[in-house]
Amino acid sequence: MGRAIKWMNFLLLFLSIASGSLSAQIWAQDIIRVGLLDLNDIPSFRCQSALGSHEWMLPNGQVLGPLDGMPTITSQAGSFQINSGEFSGHTPYVILRPKTHDARLRIVTEALGYRQYPGAIHFIHVRGTPRLIMESAMENYLPGVLAAEVGKGHAMPFYEAHAVISRSYAVQSIDRHRMDGYDLCDQVHCQVFKGTSTVNDTLHLACQTTRSLVLIDRIGRVATAAFHSNCGGQTRNGHDVWNGQMPYLQSIEDTTCSNAPHARWQRTVPRQEWDEFWSVHAVDSIQGILNARHKFHWPSASFKITYDPSIPDVYQVDGRGFGHGVGLCQEGAMQRALTGSSAWEILQNYYTGVRLLRYSHP
Ligand SMILES: [Zn+2]
Ligand SMILES: [Zn+2]
Repeated sequence: MGRAIKWMNFLLLFLSIASGSLSAQIWAQDIIRVGLLDLNDIPSFRCQSALGSHEWMLPNGQVLGPLDGMPTITSQAGSFQINSGEFSGHTPYVILRPKTHDARLRIVTEALGYRQYPGAIHFIHVRGTPRLIMESAMENYLPGVLAAEVGKGHAMPFYEAHAVISRSYAVQSIDRHRMDGYDLCDQVHCQVFKGTSTVNDTLHLACQTTRSLVLIDRIGRVATAAFHSNCGGQTRNGHDVWNGQMPYLQSIEDTTCSNAPHARWQRTVPRQEWDEFWSVHAVDSIQGILNARHKFHWPSASFKITYDPSIPDVYQVDGRGFGHGVGLCQEGAMQRALTGSSAWEILQNYYTGVRLLRYSHP
């Protein structure tokens, strides 16, 4: 699959000194391969051209025939059983290729309902596991990421800022699932992607107006554009939460998110459990606080503990924010977009000293 472009998986970064200042050019592939359904739990599904038309093709390029109607495809004992118009039979690996650029394939499963995908869909076995892999232009994939990660109803600069973030993440992570035969998965492990059936014109436009733009750091590397739901009033330093030097992930004060839905939370914690936890952690250390958040499954690591003598067995926990708190605060960015900030102003606010760069592809 896609062997002609496989070698391009490596992000090539060329730096040059021009007129005394550092300029950079990034070469990255424009085709992205996304691991879709793991078919272990989905023994059969149906597919159909939702837009345009598709044809069946073997990995060697041999065209088998058009996709007609809505055939059922069954995965069994290392091969796919297909009965579709001119093509029927068993095969361990087959591709549904779009015949036009705007073609979209609809895949229907009992568990997930229907999903719609751009590009070519590979029916393949990865280490014995049947699965689907989408091979699509980056810019046809990104609106689906925005639909899944951000949702609808926000101002355009917020979508534009998020399109740059999601593109930067995809370009930076392009080889994350290399050993699985694709670039990114469609889960929260990489970026959530549930196809493009819920993509509207606003999401398309946000991706088009920021086409090819990625965030880079001061020395020309694609930035790790981390984001979270709500920072609770102050974002965190990247190096406090993760290993590695990411000087653009600096803590900043952010009051724009203070009235948003995820600004506050409350919990209780049993006194005995809390005291036992701190008997083995350094009180007030950043790592201890981060560990406490994970142990007690709290929305964030910004919290205050209080004791009410009338409830002797538990502590009250008052928390702020939602998520790891590093990088862009989504609810703060949404508010900034509503009150007139541009996408670039939003990005500059949350990522210190970054620049925008248009990546090129061969
Ligand atoms: Zn992944
Ligand atoms: Zn915030």
